[in-house]
Amino acid sequence: MKLVSYDGGFGRVEGGTVVPMGPDLVRWLVTGEVEEGAPRPLAEITLRPPIPAPSKLIFFGLNYADHAAESGAPLPKVPIFFAKWNNSLVAHGEPIVVPPLTSQPDYEAELGVVVGRRARDVAAADALSYVAGYTCVNDVSARDLQLGSPQWTHGKAIDTFSPMGPWLVTADEIPDPQRLAIRCEVDGEVLQDSSTKEMVFTVADLISFLSQTMTLEPGDVLATGTPPGVGMGRTPQRWLRDGELVAVEIEGIGRLENPVQIPGA
Ligand code: ZN
Repeated sequence: MKLVSYDGGFGRVEGGTVVPMGPDLVRWLVTGEVEEGAPRPLAEITLRPPIPAPSKLIFFGLNYADHAAESGAPLPKVPIFFAKWNNSLVAHGEPIVVPPLTSQPDYEAELGVVVGRRARDVAAADALSYVAGYTCVNDVSARDLQLGSPQWTHGKAIDTFSPMGPWLVTADEIPDPQRLAIRCEVDGEVLQDSSTKEMVFTVADLISFLSQTMTLEPGDVLATGTPPGVGMGRTPQRWLRDGELVAVEIEGIGRLENPVQIPGA
């Protein structure tokens, strides 16, 4: 199933329609209760991020070997992660609004993983059974701010800098999350083009790792790192410009598109 969230509820996409299933996708993950409504045209629905307000929004860094190399960083021996918050989330179609403090806005296509049930001390072999589904995430990054301090957070947890969507694809449709083509296009130009098989730590590894220190809750979102080709790693470096359209596309999941707005540009 493809599940979308919108103001007042969530539902499943069937053809060109959305069949309402209840008031809250995360509550449905917990209870399984469905309150089915009359189908509505998908085109008339204003989407929200599939999980509009996760209790955790955790991003992994340098989790593709080639991207670590283009960043001039050694391969991580343990997963590197940082936090973003819900202020950074926007839906498919909503603008990425770049604040004046940065002149180096960059894109990062990432596979998003949504936790389906409470996970604590989970073995990697069991970890995928805790996944509700997958989505597309763009880990938009202000490189000058990110690298201007030892914590990346300042350049990452910026309003509108975590587009997510357009929907959640349930895990039954993605038997192996390590075999998915992943790409990023800006105004139709392919700038990242890789596969999730290149991850240093797999989705299962990342869930198991986190669950050794923190309880993961239904609706928590993990973004699993980006492949090579980001603007920072290109020669010459290439930053997002006002009016460009950024698309993150993942095989079997969908295509997340967001325009860039740079006020005053
Ligand atoms: Zn990232």
